[in-house]
Amino acid sequence: MKLDYIIVGQGISGTWLSYYLQKEGASFLVIDHHDPNAPSRLAAGIINPVTGRRHVSTWMIETLQPFAWEAYSQLGRELGVKGISQKNIIDFFPSAQMRESFVKRVEENGAYVSEMESPNQFLPHFNYEFGCGEITPVYTAHLENIIPAWRKKLVEEHLLREEKLDPGQLTLTSDRVVFKDVEARKIIFCDGALCSRNPWFQLLPFAPNKGEALFIDIPELPHDRIYKKGMMLVPMASPGQWWLGSAYEWDFKNAEPSEDFRIKSELLLQQWLKIPYTITGHIASIRPATLERRPFVGLHPVLPSIGILNGMGTKGCSLAPYFARELARHLLYREPLNPDADVRRFSRILSRNIS
Ligand SMILES: Cc1cc2nc3c(=O)[nH]c(=O)nc-3n(C[C@H](O)[C@H](O)[C@H](O)COP(=O)(O)OP(=O)(O)OC[C@H]3O[C@@H](n4cnc5c(N)ncnc54)[C@H](O)[C@@H]3O)c2cc1C
Repeated sequence: MKLDYIIVGQGISGTWLSYYLQKEGASFLVIDHHDPNAPSRLAAGIINPVTGRRHVSTWMIETLQPFAWEAYSQLGRELGVKGISQKNIIDFFPSAQMRESFVKRVEENGAYVSEMESPNQFLPHFNYEFGCGEITPVYTAHLENIIPAWRKKLVEEHLLREEKLDPGQLTLTSDRVVFKDVEARKIIFCDGALCSRNPWFQLLPFAPNKGEALFIDIPELPHDRIYKKGMMLVPMASPGQWWLGSAYEWDFKNAEPSEDFRIKSELLLQQWLKIPYTITGHIASIRPATLERRPFVGLHPVLPSIGILNGMGTKGCSLAPYFARELARHLLYREPLNPDADVRRFSRILSRNIS
């Protein structure tokens, strides 16, 4: 079988890359071994425009957020599922100091933050002493709808093979790649945290990061917002079901759900919620984060038949659609890549050990 591209991985990166390549009429095969614990299958899907204690705007958010809204809405329409919705964050301040920092940000005309007109309205459901503010607009990408629906379409169109690709089985030249019976012009790795073991890209400054979350039934909690107090309580697609997360661990022994996270989360719920809840699940996964918090996008500087779309870290939902489209247009029309994301910024590192 002769194709333009092999795409390794159907997380959120591989989903968007295959979507944009298909839109442009390119031929491809996606190879994905379907890891049920991949971060794209467990993430809450939040596209939060601010970050950190000072609520500063995240990198490129003025471009990424509206792009993501359009992209998920469009793909959702094409697949007949809900792709994205707006659920603003109610930020309960954990201390007087945090309240002051938020108010200061509002007074500086900080984008995306505002004070609440009636901050006591949440008292029937939550305990909070220091007030709350609102972050707006915040979107939730419905990965739980998009990823399986896109996979089903790919399978129906014979564009996805469910297996693990072993890089040792690839034969590469500068303009061809052969994997078993498939010959393609290029192979693009969208393989998430496993890429840190990929022989061609493992020297990149990945900084894998473990995240965890609890699934919780809270039937009495209104479903129209995300609530934050140290952690985020995020409404899931089914009413009454919530996602509480998540940890950011740089130093971890394994990818399993931990007792520490469960105890910490249960303590938070006991202190924060005034209404009944039941914990129904606990998950953990490894984010493909990078040391300098920018994605890795583009073609290998020495082996141009290999490419990468990875390093989405904590922001895969907003970064993946934008940079997948950029990569598709780079591959097909040689349009330039954003230099902050272009993997060729690591040309020297990537040239080591390549014969
Ligand atoms: C608990 C948690 C919460 C998160 N919440 C958010 C959030 O609210 N908002 C946000 O923007 N981001 C969030 N993230 C981060 C987000 O999930 C990631 O940035 C994103 O999912 C990365 O997507 P990816 O497609 O690059 O990688 P992955 O999701 O890891 O997908 C890689 C895919 O490649 C496949 N694969 C790998 N190697 C091979 C191989 N050799 N052969 C075949 N298949 C292979 C895997 O099975 C997998 O399907 C969260 C992450 C975690 C862990």
